[in-house]
Amino acid sequence: MKTIVILGSTGSIGTSTLDIVDRFPGEFRVAGLTAGSNDEKLEEQIRKFKPRIVALSDASAAARLRQRCAGLSVEILDGQEGLSQVASAPEAELVISAIVGGAGLVPTLAAIRSGKQIALANKEPMVMAGKLMQEEARKHHVRIFPVDSEHSAIFQSLEGHRKEDVRRLILTASGGALWPLTKEELRDVTAERALQHPNWKMGAKITIDSATLMNKGLEVVEARWLFDIPESQIEVMIHRESIIHSLVEYQDRSMIAQLGLPDMRTPISYAMRYPGRLPLDLPSLELTEIAKLTFCKPDHDRFPCLGLGYESLRIGGTMPATMNAANEIAVDAFLKGGIRFTDIVKIIRSTMDVHSLKDVDTLEEALEADRWAREKAESLVSALAR
Ligand code: NAD
Ligand code: MG
Repeated sequence: MKTIVILGSTGSIGTSTLDIVDRFPGEFRVAGLTAGSNDEKLEEQIRKFKPRIVALSDASAAARLRQRCAGLSVEILDGQEGLSQVASAPEAELVISAIVGGAGLVPTLAAIRSGKQIALANKEPMVMAGKLMQEEARKHHVRIFPVDSEHSAIFQSLEGHRKEDVRRLILTASGGALWPLTKEELRDVTAERALQHPNWKMGAKITIDSATLMNKGLEVVEARWLFDIPESQIEVMIHRESIIHSLVEYQDRSMIAQLGLPDMRTPISYAMRYPGRLPLDLPSLELTEIAKLTFCKPDHDRFPCLGLGYESLRIGGTMPATMNAANEIAVDAFLKGGIRFTDIVKIIRSTMDVHSLKDVDTLEEALEADRWAREKAESLVSALAR
C-alpha cells in the first residue's frame, strides 16, 4: 500500500490518477489532495477518498469547502502555504504533481525537499527551474518519475541501458488541433477550434500549448532536465496518431520506443507503481487495425513556438522561465478571446527579446523571472487586445 498526495486532483491528470486509485484500492491510500478553486469537485473527492488533509489555493473556495465539509474529519488549508503543507504531508510517500502551470513549482519543490518521490505531470516547474529541481532531488534522495507520455516513453526506453550509449531522444508530437491549417487560417482560429485535440482529452492550457506546439517546446526543456541530456541530442518528430509515445536512438542505431493507445492512465500508473505495472482494464493496441503510422518533420514556419523552447535552453538561466510565464499569460488571454492565436508567439517572442538574463540558482530567482515575465506579457496583451 502506497500513501499518495495529488496536487491538482480536480484536473484532467488528477481525476485520471484518482480513477486508478479507485480501480486498485489495495494499492494506494490518498493522504492529501489539492486544487485551485473547484471546491465542489474537491468535496466529492474528499467524500470518496477520505484524505486527511486538503488545500485550495483560492481562499474563498476553501472557505466554501469548510462549510460543505463541516462534520467530516478533514483538515482544509488554503493558499500557497496550504498547498506546500499538503505536498509535504508526513505520511505521504509519493506526490503526483499535476497542477497546471508555474503555480506548481512551489508545492512540487516543497514535496521534493521533504523527500517525497515525485510522479511529475506538471512540466512547467521543470521548465522554470529544472536544474534546481534536479539538484534538490539529488540532495533529498528523491526520484522524479515522468508522467508526461513522451517522457514516460523515453524513461521506459532507457531502462536497462547505459546513458553513454544514447545517441538521441526523439519526442513525438501529435501536431495538435491545428496542424493541417495554413498560416493565414491560423490567424483567425477560435479558442473553441484550437481546443479540439485529435487524440488526447486534456486541460485547456495544455491543449492550446499542443496547438501552438509550445507544449513540445516545453517538453524539450523538460526532457533536458529529466534525462540530463543536452538539447542538441533531443529531436522532435510529428506523429499524428499518438501511438509511438517517443523513442531513444542508441549509438548502434537501434531505436527503442514505447507504444500504446493514447490514454494517460498508462503513464500515470507506471509512475505510481514503478517498477511494477498495473493490470489496467483498457483496450489493447491492435497494430493490424491501425495498419499505418505516419511521421514528418515539424514545421517551424507555421509553429514557431517549438523553436523558442530550444532557444530558451540554449540561452539558459532565467530564459525558459520567462518563456513559460509569457506563454501562460498569452494562452490565458487567447482562451478569453482577448488576442489572436498568432499573437501567442508574438507575446512570448517579445517578452524573451527584452528579458535581462540571470542565473537560476534559487527558487526566488525563478519566481522573480516568472513575475517579471508575467507583468511584461500582460502589458503586451493589453497593447494587442482586440
Ligand atoms: P487541468 O487544467 O485539467 O488541471 C489543473 C489542476 O491544477 C486542477 O486541479 C486545478 O484546480 C489546479 N490548479 C490550477 N491552477 C492552480 C493554481 N493557481 N494553484 C493551485 N492549483 C491550481 O490540467 P491538466 O491537463 O490535468 O494538466 C496538469 C499538468 O499536467 C500540466 O502541467 C500539463 O502540462 C501536464 N500534462 C497533462 C496531460 C494531460 O493529459 N492532461 C498530459 C501530459 C502532461
Ligand atoms: Mg506530453
